[in-house]
Amino acid sequence: MMHYALPPSLDDDIVRFEQDFAEFRGGRLHKTAFTAKRVKMGVYLERDRSSYMCRIRCSGNIITPKQLAGVASLAKIYGKGQICVTTRAEVQLHRIEEQDVIPVLRKLKEIGLSCKGGGGNTVRNIIANYDSGISSKEVFDVQPCLQALAERLLRESDSWDLPRKMKIGFCSLTEEDSLGFVQDIGFIAHLNADGKEGFRVYIGGGLGAHPKVGVQLHEFIPQEEVYNVVRAVKNMFHLYGNRRNKHRNRLKFLLHDDLGPSAFRTYYRQELNKVLEMGYPKLDVLPLDNEKNVRRDIPLEPEKEDSDDFRTWKKRHVVNQRQKGLCRIRLSLFSGNLLADDCIALEKFSRPFGENILRFGTDQNMYLVNIPEKYLANVYKEIVGYSALSDKPMLYGNLVSCSGSQGCQAGLTAPKAVTEATFKYLDTVAAADFCPPNDIMIRISGCPNSCTNHWIADLGFYGKVRRVEGHMIPTYNVLGNGGMFGGILRIAEKIGWVHAYDLPRFITEVMRRYANFKEQSETIVDFHDYWRSGGRDIISELCTSGYNDIPSFAEDKNYYFDHGADELFSLKNLGHEECSAGIYDIINVDDKLVRKNLMQLAVEKHPTDENLETLLQGILFHGARMLLVTRGEEAKTEADVYSLFTRHFLDTGLIAEAHRPLLLSACQGKSDSLCEQKEQVIAFGEDITTLYKNMDDTMRFPGERENMMVQAAKKHDEPLTPPHGQRRRPNKFKDLSGVQCPLNFAQVKVQLFAMSPGEVLEVILDDGTPIENVPESVKSEGHTILCQEKTGEQWSVLIQKS
Ligand code: SF4
Repeated sequence: MMHYALPPSLDDDIVRFEQDFAEFRGGRLHKTAFTAKRVKMGVYLERDRSSYMCRIRCSGNIITPKQLAGVASLAKIYGKGQICVTTRAEVQLHRIEEQDVIPVLRKLKEIGLSCKGGGGNTVRNIIANYDSGISSKEVFDVQPCLQALAERLLRESDSWDLPRKMKIGFCSLTEEDSLGFVQDIGFIAHLNADGKEGFRVYIGGGLGAHPKVGVQLHEFIPQEEVYNVVRAVKNMFHLYGNRRNKHRNRLKFLLHDDLGPSAFRTYYRQELNKVLEMGYPKLDVLPLDNEKNVRRDIPLEPEKEDSDDFRTWKKRHVVNQRQKGLCRIRLSLFSGNLLADDCIALEKFSRPFGENILRFGTDQNMYLVNIPEKYLANVYKEIVGYSALSDKPMLYGNLVSCSGSQGCQAGLTAPKAVTEATFKYLDTVAAADFCPPNDIMIRISGCPNSCTNHWIADLGFYGKVRRVEGHMIPTYNVLGNGGMFGGILRIAEKIGWVHAYDLPRFITEVMRRYANFKEQSETIVDFHDYWRSGGRDIISELCTSGYNDIPSFAEDKNYYFDHGADELFSLKNLGHEECSAGIYDIINVDDKLVRKNLMQLAVEKHPTDENLETLLQGILFHGARMLLVTRGEEAKTEADVYSLFTRHFLDTGLIAEAHRPLLLSACQGKSDSLCEQKEQVIAFGEDITTLYKNMDDTMRFPGERENMMVQAAKKHDEPLTPPHGQRRRPNKFKDLSGVQCPLNFAQVKVQLFAMSPGEVLEVILDDGTPIENVPESVKSEGHTILCQEKTGEQWSVLIQKS
């Protein structure tokens, strides 16, 4: 069975995590630093703060039936007896007790699965369209390339400490599918003029609270070059990614806002050239014949079924594959949930069908693939009793929702509970009144973060808190008309808001109006036609016709409760989104302690010897440790802290040589003399906090010129010489000496933004990379370089705003 191999370091990773867990439980590891280590192992703290969620990677949306049953058994023993499929085609186990986390990780490894990279600033689960390899519309099967890439990236240590998460997706279909456009790196299957298989590459896509559509990076690259592209982007991200600002450190911000697409491409090409010169091994993409992974000679008697229910189910949930005689079957799930017992039963039932039969969709549904048509009745009889939605219209499986405030730290509202209430409402109303449309995808998120991809939904909602008479009310913003149109991805339009209490009724009403409209019109083919033909205004008006009038608390208390809650709505237990926890959080823990001790020393004029010793020891230890993480170091002992600090900060001249005697005595364990070195320790603490303050967003320090990535020679064009007589008096001046690429360019952009067309900005740039890159990037934005001239070690550049 085709699947990726787990990284060889996984055993060691789990051992280290077990030690971290023990340190944390023993109070020796700060909870913030522990969170940064925990989330990159795919382990999140549940909203109740007393148990954990483990998120399991399923590379390429694939899991084998045996693995599924293994995960389900863990859910029964350690979790809450069900699995949950995410919109990134992972599986989550919820409510794992603290002492069970490590056993769960070890048992997952035994069945070839891992949570590593399920969260944090890592290369996340690499996904594809669930029907790659079986769709009659696809260009070619992207799974072999995807799995080879996943296996390579998971072995690379720099995949686990990126400035922010990196999402990679493959699409075997054409540009009619949105998947490739909303990834940090999207690969869309494409054949070149010679019929060679490869990809169009899109970069900088992503949804979240600030949605961006990916832009094309390559018109075509062959499959075996995929790694080089990812390697170059990863290098760029490490070099230029903003590690400090968590809200703006995804690749999409670097591309769209900080650099702009054309400058991004310039820097990317430089990195790609270096990668090509390094000559990394090409990806070993072995063509996969899906037929060979499929069992047709099944030792099972085909069953017969002729009921209306069976025919309806078949019509709704079964699609023919491109392989003749084989079918894919959708197992519609309620918000991705399936009982563990059903997973175990499915494994038992499906044994005769082989291992290549399960996929997860980014719509939170499960798909059975490669099922011979003659066994459809067998499958139907098996799954109809599951906790799935097999007897329901497709619309039920088209409602995607996240756990929101019922599980996620950042959740404001409870989308799963709303979805459940909507099912109930649809059950009572729709059955009697109208036929629910099956061609619409509804996505409901518990906050603006868009984990359900509400920005590309036909109809989308995200949780928002409003206040009435001093009370907080759960509400949802309403969006619509997102998705692909003629090869272009459109971000949904926000058209209003409704209160949570009536959302099930609102959704049902929109469905009813759409269904009726479609029935009466010969020209309306889908929801987007409806939207353009007046549906948008109808839905917008519907929001304001009773769905966002909120009665006073005395009139009706229902509006002041969220679905599934028996307490008045509040933001109780609201925490920080954990997934971005990273290096800065770890540094900040030590930085705070150093500053706190310094402040206490300044306040306490006459501390006892013991107290003084403790404060100085704190400054020295936390000061020496705080920036080690920026060098990729993790000291195991106190002696390690001082010797690593000496190597990375003293020997490199980043911190003054005057501190060497202090560090030397600390290295030798002579902390008993600290009180005598009080002034030196204080000076050390002040210097280290200043160094941190001056660290740039890419974790480099003033004057530091090391190339952190590939040491490859690079040919540059000669910088321009100043054209005679063009020097003009500047309207504005900015000294960017010491500011590295691409932050210098980002600052030039900020300056130009505030200026009028025709005005001239003079900037001072360092020799080397800054003068080679910035003027070219400025020109690619349409501005004019009037003149650049060398003055000593630096360059003065005059830029005229376009
Ligand atoms: S959309 Fe918000 S509430 Fe939902 S899972 Fe994501 S962060 Fe949590």
